[in-house]
Amino acid sequence: MPSDPGGLVDLHAHTLASDGGDRPEELVAAAAAAGVGTLAVTDHDTVAAVAEARAAGERLGVEVLAGCELTATVGDRVVHVLLYGEGLLEPDTANAVEVTRRGRDERNRAIGERLERLCGVGYADAVEVAGASALSRAHFARVMVARGVVADVAEAFDRYLSSGRPAHVPAPGVSLTDAVAIAAKAGGVAVLAHPGRLAAAERDRVVGAALEAGVDGVEVWHSQHDPDLRASLAALVDQRNLLATGGSDYHGRHKPGVRIGTGKDANVAVPGERLDALRERLAAGPG
Ligand code: AMP
Ligand code: MN
Ligand code: MN
Ligand code: MN
Repeated sequence: MPSDPGGLVDLHAHTLASDGGDRPEELVAAAAAAGVGTLAVTDHDTVAAVAEARAAGERLGVEVLAGCELTATVGDRVVHVLLYGEGLLEPDTANAVEVTRRGRDERNRAIGERLERLCGVGYADAVEVAGASALSRAHFARVMVARGVVADVAEAFDRYLSSGRPAHVPAPGVSLTDAVAIAAKAGGVAVLAHPGRLAAAERDRVVGAALEAGVDGVEVWHSQHDPDLRASLAALVDQRNLLATGGSDYHGRHKPGVRIGTGKDANVAVPGERLDALRERLAAGPG
């Protein structure tokens, strides 16, 4: 691993390989411009953009860590798990990571069939607006707005696409335990992503399940975590001797308020000693 290049540390960012807006080299150029020295590329259920991002990083002086954001499930609840480690790039592991991604295509087709019946918006319409981006419910919502089926994206989710609504189909995912096992087998680590996106009661249940499943860490400095939550999550990981990570969760133009390296409020950068702890765990390899 290269010596510490200095600069900000951002361990959560997306490219066009999932639902981000930037090509890998655009992401890395944005990171370099924002003063990020260490960047993890963490697309949903794929490591496809890592190699290209790394090549750009070598040109631009940004260290690129291999990662992905795996879609996992706890009961009927979807949770995201960040995996980090060079071993993720090995074909067997990359393939295990992509299983959920292939399941997503079946899910999108099922959503399209339902919406077609409900309001005439189909799978092909969403594929067309998605272009090079990985297809998600957000694209179905955009078509529905464009056709005047709903007034805005929020209404599309509230009336059709959210859990419990008529066009909702559950996202495929591996269990939390499987996610931890995929990381361990690759000599990497599994980190519970942004627990703060859940309501407080749900959050405690999910954090408990994640600890039980053996996650190696928890994402603390996320752009949607307020200072109180960061403090309580940092205390929790210290008490359990786990890793603490963080990042902007940058999606380029698809989440315009979230900037690479700083998130919303110049506060997502991961402290140096936390990055050192992650590096030590990754250098120790499998076992
Ligand atoms: P999917 O991965 O297909 O489940 O879709 C996730 C996408 O839908 C992400 O871009 C989310 O930001 C977006 N999304 C999820 N729920 C909502 C909501 N209630 N309102 C607006 N966008 C949403
Ligand atoms: Mn996303
Ligand atoms: Mn996420
Ligand atoms: Mn993310």
